[in-house]
Amino acid sequence: MASAREHVWVSIRVRPLLEAETARQEEECWEASGSGLLRCTQHGAANTALSFDQVFPTDISPDELYAACRERVQSSLQGINSTLFCYGQTGSGKTYTMRQLISLATADIFDTISNLPHREFTLRASALEIYNERVRDLLKNHSENQDLEVQDTRGKVKDLTLQPISSAAGLEQLVNISCARRTTRDTRINVTSSRSHQVIQVHIESRDAHATSPTPIVESPTRNGATEEAEDGLASSERGLEDPRPVTSAVLTFVDLAGSERVSSAALEDSNQRTRLLEGSTINKSLLTLGSVFRALGDASSSASKGATVYVAYRDSKLTRVLKPSLEGKGRLAVVCCISPAAGALDNTRSTLHFAEQAR
Ligand code: ADP
Ligand code: MG
Repeated sequence: MASAREHVWVSIRVRPLLEAETARQEEECWEASGSGLLRCTQHGAANTALSFDQVFPTDISPDELYAACRERVQSSLQGINSTLFCYGQTGSGKTYTMRQLISLATADIFDTISNLPHREFTLRASALEIYNERVRDLLKNHSENQDLEVQDTRGKVKDLTLQPISSAAGLEQLVNISCARRTTRDTRINVTSSRSHQVIQVHIESRDAHATSPTPIVESPTRNGATEEAEDGLASSERGLEDPRPVTSAVLTFVDLAGSERVSSAALEDSNQRTRLLEGSTINKSLLTLGSVFRALGDASSSASKGATVYVAYRDSKLTRVLKPSLEGKGRLAVVCCISPAAGALDNTRSTLHFAEQAR
């Protein structure tokens, strides 16, 4: 099982009570107890602790959070695909956590690169959202893009903007733009709740800086800032025509998932019930598919030595189709399941913990 753990790492982050929750005297009912254990402290709850790869207490610092995920970010600089997910109900702290992770990962990546003068790095980033099984480019205006095609055979999203990134500030700016464009709307649970999955990907390539490079690559932004692509849909650097040096490449992916709460409670008394119910059922389906993909990947890596083939149901949702190239093979993934400490959120929290236990 040790190899399975390397591939699929599942943690829990308990956020602190928010001001409004404290004001209405919400009871805090979860306690991180020691390495990887979570206990429900509510009166009458069975006193058994749940076990995960890591449990972050409410007072965790951003640096401590990042330290736990750093190895995965670093492996993407060495050619191993890595994907970081935030899962949880609306208001549990997914976006908050993802922003902290992206910000620290970005600083770490550029810091690491600056200390590797013998490697020449090329970074390009994309940002998309999946809303009601439609893929939208978050680096373009909504009017320009409705539903991008996922090319299963090539593992690409057709026409998705890939923006050259040369600094930490550049990546931060891209993240800010894409977050502002993400589909959000009101629900009863929270004023702005995210009903879409947001996927930010950093494509990292590196080459030996000292080997000869007859035609140095010049980043040539074309329409929408994408690097030049030929008819085969590959960036020139991907085809390696200009640059004969061996390339090490990987994709680092950050996924801020749509709220995992059951839609029925959020849709009640809502004037747009139909839209909301459709959103809810596509979200539920894609999160279920994601859970089964995690399990299959864990099984696949634990049974790899026995040569068993495990079926992975990537095709069952847009999200898993988009993520397939990153998750399959040696790809590593980390999930931070975010939970509210409040007794009022207990049902949704239990379902998040169930997802986390199943994912392991
Ligand atoms: P989600 O994306 O899961 O819907 P958010 O990340 O938007 O949730 O968080 C909901 C609210 O809780 C926000 O106001 C956010 O600032 C706050 N919050 C979330 N996590 C934390 C945390 N670890 N510490 C302090 N405040 C937090
Ligand atoms: Mg959010």
